[in-house]
Amino acid sequence: MSHDAPILIVGAGQAGATAAAALRAFGHTGRIVMVGNERPLPYERPPLSKAVLSDAAMDERIGIHPAGFHGERSIELRLGTEVTSIDAARSIAHCSDGEALAFSRCLLATGGKARTLPGLAEGTPRVHAIRTLADAQALREAMRQHASMVVLGAGFLGLEIASTARGMGLEVTVLESAERVLPRAVPPVFSDWLGQRVRHAGIELRLGVRPASITPHADGVAIALEDGRQLNAPLLVAAIGLVPEVALARASGLELHPANGGIRIDAQCRTSAAHIFAAGDCTSQFQPLFGEEIRLESWQSANEQARISAAAMLGVATESAATPWFWTDQFGCNVQMLGMPAAGLAYRLRGPQATDDMAPKFLLLGFDGESRLCHAIAVNAGGDLRQLRALVEQRTSCDAALLRDTSIPLRQAVRDTIAAAAAPSLS
Ligand SMILES: Cc1cc2nc3c(=O)[nH]c(=O)nc-3n(C[C@H](O)[C@H](O)[C@H](O)COP(=O)(O)OP(=O)(O)OC[C@H]3O[C@@H](n4cnc5c(N)ncnc54)[C@H](O)[C@@H]3O)c2cc1C
Repeated sequence: MSHDAPILIVGAGQAGATAAAALRAFGHTGRIVMVGNERPLPYERPPLSKAVLSDAAMDERIGIHPAGFHGERSIELRLGTEVTSIDAARSIAHCSDGEALAFSRCLLATGGKARTLPGLAEGTPRVHAIRTLADAQALREAMRQHASMVVLGAGFLGLEIASTARGMGLEVTVLESAERVLPRAVPPVFSDWLGQRVRHAGIELRLGVRPASITPHADGVAIALEDGRQLNAPLLVAAIGLVPEVALARASGLELHPANGGIRIDAQCRTSAAHIFAAGDCTSQFQPLFGEEIRLESWQSANEQARISAAAMLGVATESAATPWFWTDQFGCNVQMLGMPAAGLAYRLRGPQATDDMAPKFLLLGFDGESRLCHAIAVNAGGDLRQLRALVEQRTSCDAALLRDTSIPLRQAVRDTIAAAAAPSLS
């Protein structure tokens, strides 16, 4: 391995673009080559299920960096090109345009693909999913042509798409196999509140239902549910999860997590090959807050792993990863989450939680058995969430009653909590 060879970044998405920028920001002056199989300049995916679906003008406004950014920093971009194989031992990547690229270090930032419906070929008419800008553009066009749609999956993506479609005036039905919305990401108390809000927006939300078969026909799709009921939809959107894109890693012999399928990385984002790193949705990493190795599919995690992997490639010291944070915009709510939900947390509410409020504002605080704040959900209250960060990060024992008391400003309650935790115990 020669350190004169370029650093190769595979995947020009959130993690890839952020890592390339970070390498330059950390002072790397050597060659950086970023190969991406999509044609557009690296862009943000979160707007794809939100503003991009309703407003074509957004297509031009979602670039991660301004147009001239990569040229000004001598970051060599090979867009519309796929890395087809990597010879990890010889440090050579082969590309779909026939080029063989020698590299000194490599970052796999290959993201993932939308999970497809079993038995339906990719590209089936009237059946959509969103992972790329092209996907969002195709769905936007279809949503203009039809008055109703069915969304399969009430996870973040499914609910965001449903919310945007409803805002555009479509009749929307959401089908979810679990008994509540966002079953894996939030506690039941929040699922119940959000589910009511979804229904209040005029969406037909059917929980605990599974399609037995989906049959395309000339006017749309026929959905037969396992309980025997039938639905017809001119348009179907499958928002049923992500499959990490790990084909290159697998073929190169890199270690994958046996259960979640992600590329295993250490705290520095190093894979099982010392000169190959990975970042973003394709990875599996130990999360100290959660106490286990998981795959995080989030904008913040992709950016954090990009920064940390860039520093590690250069041997530069950098801060460790920030506490997991996630946001979603739907049904008039900006929802932000800090920390991780875990079984057994007791949730306490701060603020009023009316379902029909035009602009609700409240916090849900999840405490473990030792009264430590492990997970906080903020609805239209991102500023409040920032104030709670110190408590989550320092694993401070809290007085839940103090933190939920709205007669005490949150800033003061947090200050008092930190002071009480620092005071010497009398017992
Ligand atoms: C519709 C949508 C809405 C979202 N909303 C939110 C949100 O509100 N909040 C939030 O926190 N997160 C959100 N996310 C998640 C967030 O966008 C992702 O976590 C983030 O984009 C992951 O970055 P990544 O670099 O790992 O993957 P990506 O951004 O997907 O980039 C991977 C790139 O690598 C390319 N690639 C793959 N294999 C190869 C190869 N062999 N050769 C060349 N190129 C390759 C892919 O085509 C892709 O361009 C959303 C995601 C989507 C799809």
